[in-house]
Amino acid sequence: RAKEIGSNGIAYFEPGMEQAALRRSTIELELRNALTSGEIYPHYQPLIDLETGDTVGFEALARWKTPGGLVRLPIDFISIAEQCGLISDLFFTILRAACVDVRNWPAHCHVAINLSPVQFSDPELAQRILGVLIETGVAPGRIEIEITESALVSDLDNAIATIISLKNQGVRISLDDFGTGYSSLRHLSDLPIDKLKIDRSFVENLDNDEASRTIVRAVTGLAHNLGLTVVAEGIETQENASHLSQFGCDFGQGYYFGRPAAAQFLMPFFNQESWIKISDNLSKISNQEIVAQEHNVHSHHTAK
Ligand code: C2E
Ligand code: MG
Ligand code: MG
Ligand code: MG
Repeated sequence: RAKEIGSNGIAYFEPGMEQAALRRSTIELELRNALTSGEIYPHYQPLIDLETGDTVGFEALARWKTPGGLVRLPIDFISIAEQCGLISDLFFTILRAACVDVRNWPAHCHVAINLSPVQFSDPELAQRILGVLIETGVAPGRIEIEITESALVSDLDNAIATIISLKNQGVRISLDDFGTGYSSLRHLSDLPIDKLKIDRSFVENLDNDEASRTIVRAVTGLAHNLGLTVVAEGIETQENASHLSQFGCDFGQGYYFGRPAAAQFLMPFFNQESWIKISDNLSKISNQEIVAQEHNVHSHHTAK
């Protein structure tokens, strides 16, 4: 992995590159192991109906608990998994776990799984996903697949074919991180998607930036006119939530409603009828547990 190839055809390394490459191959080895020994599993973050406050589903987010008790976040391993051919194993590990868990949830709650753009190169992808649903006895309508737009640039035909096969069976598709990267309005009309997730970067600035409010309002209107539902990511405050609900945004996700948490911590979201109906105190108590749980994730000193 040389950074540059000189005019003489000889590749040379920059200082630090060898170390980075070494670290990468160490993680690659560990990840290969982790996938076979059950160290990769999902945390779930609630998706809330902004009008009623009901929990409508959860997004599965990959976590890696190392034997030392440290929990690694996706930023440390997703792109490595993509580069070394492990992303499909990782996806199916999360999908399987999510299918097992969704069977314990109220029937109206769905689960959303993130798909990596590189997976569209697999022509059997849709069949393999549907196979897992059949094996685990989960109705396709309870599953949503989140895709990002970079997928659509490199492998558009495969992506469309896969999306259509999944949709025909009742799996829903959402376009994640909308407004970043390779966003194109073309995709909104050309792709058979159901949902658009507005990226966190727009929500972040909602309270003090008129331009962000204008964009979010306009994108929401546009999506609705195209028959799509709209989810806002990264809602951290009550002000964020009320802005978005005023703009007609259908669903919301973010630390304000709940951090990603392990499956056993989701009870409060099932027991309470609705987020806004929960008394302030009760919500603080139940949320504390979830915050504490996710907090461990960021601690590098978590005991096993
Ligand atoms: P994403 O799909 O856009 O997921 C949302 C990310 O935003 C999650 O980060 C979540 O913890 C974080 N988040 C949620 N609410 C808030 C908030 O209010 N404030 C802030 N600051 N952040 C919030 P996470 O879990 O670290 O995942 C990062 C990304 O890694 C995901 O972004 C997704 O692109 C990728 N990823 C996660 N799990 C998988 C997986 O199983 N497969 C693939 N291919 N990618 C995954
Ligand atoms: Mg996502
Ligand atoms: Mg997202
Ligand atoms: Mg995002």
